[in-house]
Amino acid sequence: MASTIRFGTVGSPLSTPAQPGGTVGGILRTAELGLGCLELAWVRAVRVSSATCESIRAQAERSGIALSVHAPYFTNLNADSAEWPKSRRRIMDAAHFGALAGATDIVIHPGSYFGQPPAEVLRIAIPRLKECVMELRDQGNPVVLRPEVMGKMALFGSLEDVLALSASVEGVLPCVDIAHLHARTGAQNSYAEWMAVFDAIGSALGAESLRRMHVHLSGIEYTAKGERRHLPFSEADLDYPRFLEAVKARGCAGRILCESPLLEKDAILLRDTWEKTSP
Ligand SMILES: [Zn+2]
Repeated sequence: MASTIRFGTVGSPLSTPAQPGGTVGGILRTAELGLGCLELAWVRAVRVSSATCESIRAQAERSGIALSVHAPYFTNLNADSAEWPKSRRRIMDAAHFGALAGATDIVIHPGSYFGQPPAEVLRIAIPRLKECVMELRDQGNPVVLRPEVMGKMALFGSLEDVLALSASVEGVLPCVDIAHLHARTGAQNSYAEWMAVFDAIGSALGAESLRRMHVHLSGIEYTAKGERRHLPFSEADLDYPRFLEAVKARGCAGRILCESPLLEKDAILLRDTWEKTSP
């Protein structure tokens, strides 16, 4: 039986050889390592041609690798009206070229509170996101937009925020970054807390959303303000074996993408741990 969870990396594996290199090489290497998914890290800008997207799509299909895109970091659903069109452009470009490349999910950073209460920020962000999805559907683009749980308290993107965005806009689901969730408060590092996270997702978005999970997972260093930097699992306190137990016990399905500095080494650690995790 095929695994219910695909494991992979955000960005091509570090061991991707120079030839053919690029994303096609990253897909080939991902398959060779026995991993199942890859997130294209278009995190500075979307600079890719339609022809390149076509070769990425074809290789991913041949290799059986599920693709997602991480949109440029600099997006803000709470930007002022002068800045919002630029953020919107980055999201829409990632979604357009991502779909051409065969990606099904587009991860976006929700932005900043600018000191406003979350409810006020959501009042601005929800209609903007809705309008993005409407335009994508008008263009026949089926991608799911995935606002990510962010690692700093000052950032728009608590679990509650991304669930509110997802519940309010059809075609939007969360990117649940387990390291960020932990770094926001220092809590969220136990079986019971992760079960409560799954409960929250299931009750906000329906049980079916737990079968379409998109998770970022790595070790993390944090302070009282939240995330400092991503770490290898061996240097961090994140209890990833217990997290995987919770995922398995809850019957979640989807993708778990590793963002540790060791990328595929830690993604393989996750996959191997998962295979030894008892149901
Ligand atoms: Zn991110």
